Amino acid sequence: MENNYHVCTGCALLCDDIEVGSEKNKINKVFTACRIGMAHMKEGKGEAIFRVDNKSVDEATAINEAVTILRNAKKPLIFGLGASTSETQKIAIKLAKKINATLDDNSSFCLGGVVETLIKNEMKTCTLDDVRNKADVIIYWGTDPSDSHPRLLSKYSYFPRGKEKQRGWEEERTAIAVDVRKSHTAKISGNYFFQIPPKGDEEFIDAVIAGLSGKLPKTSYNYPPKKLLELANILKGAKFGVIFVGCGLIYSLESLESLSRLMKVLNEKANIHLMAMVGNYNSMGFNENLFAETGYLNSVKFENGIVKHGPEYSIVESLKAKTVDAALIVDSDPFSILPRSIVKNLQEIPVVSIDPYETLTSRHSKVYINTAISGVEAGGTATRMDRVKVSFEPVIEANRPSDEAILKKIMEAL
Ligand code: SF4
Repeated sequence: MENNYHVCTGCALLCDDIEVGSEKNKINKVFTACRIGMAHMKEGKGEAIFRVDNKSVDEATAINEAVTILRNAKKPLIFGLGASTSETQKIAIKLAKKINATLDDNSSFCLGGVVETLIKNEMKTCTLDDVRNKADVIIYWGTDPSDSHPRLLSKYSYFPRGKEKQRGWEEERTAIAVDVRKSHTAKISGNYFFQIPPKGDEEFIDAVIAGLSGKLPKTSYNYPPKKLLELANILKGAKFGVIFVGCGLIYSLESLESLSRLMKVLNEKANIHLMAMVGNYNSMGFNENLFAETGYLNSVKFENGIVKHGPEYSIVESLKAKTVDAALIVDSDPFSILPRSIVKNLQEIPVVSIDPYETLTSRHSKVYINTAISGVEAGGTATRMDRVKVSFEPVIEANRPSDEAILKKIMEAL
């Protein structure tokens, strides 16, 4: 029996203090992780599955079929990779170049806009360790990390004692939640939960800016001005504040202009940072790697050495307009996350799914290649949600190939 510290790839926090017990190459105990991480770590030791047209085949047959699909495609799409290592992502980018593919990940319909401002240094950000050590005002806006990133509050943002916050949450930190519903995180925020109507964020931001500027904050939905002024005063007094931005806020805004304006006004009066609540463990890595290669975070199309970029190259618009004729989906489940009206077009083209888990996408794919779970059965590197690089080793020996090994084989065969 062995006990070591490991990295959990269950979400973009990439907690690096996970202790596991394993016996006969099977993880049987997981300590420190949250419930998501625990289930994730125990998923290891899967048996390899390769399928073509829902029939079991060997690895070579599945790879051959995937290669044939990609070779015959005139307009292939490669999608996913947020839950892949950076090494796998870089091979996928090379593959996309080689076969003139459209390449996208789910940041194109989620937090890509905010992540872009962070990668381009257009908004002030910090690390999670800074938050633990220094943060006095923490805002969760349109996000419920208690459910999505369960250890964010306990490990970094609210409950822990930090170097400069020894008296902890009881005396030295204020948690604020802005949301359309009373989430678990909103309950923890107590009196500082600001419940707004759906699509009410833009007006709420304007009202907070008015409050910060000494004006009477007003909204068309009559949010109590007294509460808004109270919020503005807390924010003004922040010595080290952070706003964790979730999809709930982004989906509500027409553009990021109001959020940028809020950050500008806030930082004239206080010290406020922004962090994107990216979900998949290496979404940030995918955006960074593609940005380094092309200058864009997502929604690109390679065409004989030229990179095209625009919303028309996102998975949503490509499927809507039927501009792709085959899809390679890596470590993602678009059949579960996209609306039926869009995903039905994915059913009309051949799909190759590479994923450690059986998903709706794997079940609807012409070719399914089941791979090792990164961080459990395969090692690599990834970028945490605060852009800190993390590397990890496999915890147990894999009975199935890594997605990196499969992509390399596909690449070589094409
Ligand atoms: S918070 Fe995320 S990274 Fe940490 S243990 Fe839970 S799932 Fe894993």
